[in-house]
Amino acid sequence: METIVNIISAQYVTHNVKQFRLQKPAGFTFTPGQATELSVNHPDWKDKKNPFTFTSLAHDPYLEFTIKIYPDSPEGVTNQLSKLVPGDELILRDAWGAIEYKGPGYFIAGGAGITPFIAILRDLNNQRKLAGNKLFFSNKTDKDIILADELKSMLGPDAVFLISGQKDSIHDTRRIDEAFLKAEVSDFTKHFYVCGPDAMVEEINGILSGLGADADSVVFEK
Ligand SMILES: Cc1cc2nc3c(=O)[nH]c(=O)nc-3n(C[C@H](O)[C@H](O)[C@H](O)COP(=O)(O)OP(=O)(O)OC[C@H]3O[C@@H](n4cnc5c(N)ncnc54)[C@H](O)[C@@H]3O)c2cc1C
Repeated sequence: METIVNIISAQYVTHNVKQFRLQKPAGFTFTPGQATELSVNHPDWKDKKNPFTFTSLAHDPYLEFTIKIYPDSPEGVTNQLSKLVPGDELILRDAWGAIEYKGPGYFIAGGAGITPFIAILRDLNNQRKLAGNKLFFSNKTDKDIILADELKSMLGPDAVFLISGQKDSIHDTRRIDEAFLKAEVSDFTKHFYVCGPDAMVEEINGILSGLGADADSVVFEK
């Protein structure tokens, strides 16, 4: 089903990631980790449907999306989204499963691949059920880390930020490779949730399966 919803607020949370809060239609529901397809409600754009993940929780009075903007892709949807202001309209569609929490384990995210985990971790935090979960969140530079403060405040030392492209980073600069996983994972029988760019998800899934683990994963970017 398609519903037209208004933007309530739109603000940058990093230099290139914008958080949109939208009106929530009565009775609209979803579970943490689910996504939907959004379009800009404009004749030139309404048929361009791109998937985005809910970062709000089902009981919040608004819908929230946390979206990485690609200004170098002027014909892309996210560049259009970046120009919208409160009161502008989006087309919202039904929620569908992207990734689902099945029990404590390791969350491995790259870039905007953190978004399904934001919803899942916020939900677990509300329920005081975060114990036993650990996050490895990889980005190119320190300033790319989405909601770093909130992730640290929820998970403390179990939120580990990895930086791949900045030598003077204040964070860990190791790659998430086999040596890293062998050093950092104490139990390969736990759940693994992986979300990020294609190459990262493929590489990590291959390593995990070689180490006897089975990951739930979603590919976000080419
Ligand atoms: C289930 C799911 C949920 C998602 N949820 C979120 C979310 O919550 N937040 C979020 O930020 N993103 C999310 N994404 C990713 C998001 O859908 C895309 O990043 C977005 O649709 C890109 O749209 P665009 O039209 O602006 O960019 P595009 O025009 O498609 O381009 C995006 C970037 O990719 C590059 N690119 C395009 N095509 C190629 C190619 N063939 N090879 C290499 N590079 C290419 C472009 O140069 C540009 O830099 C999700 C994806 C999926 C599958």
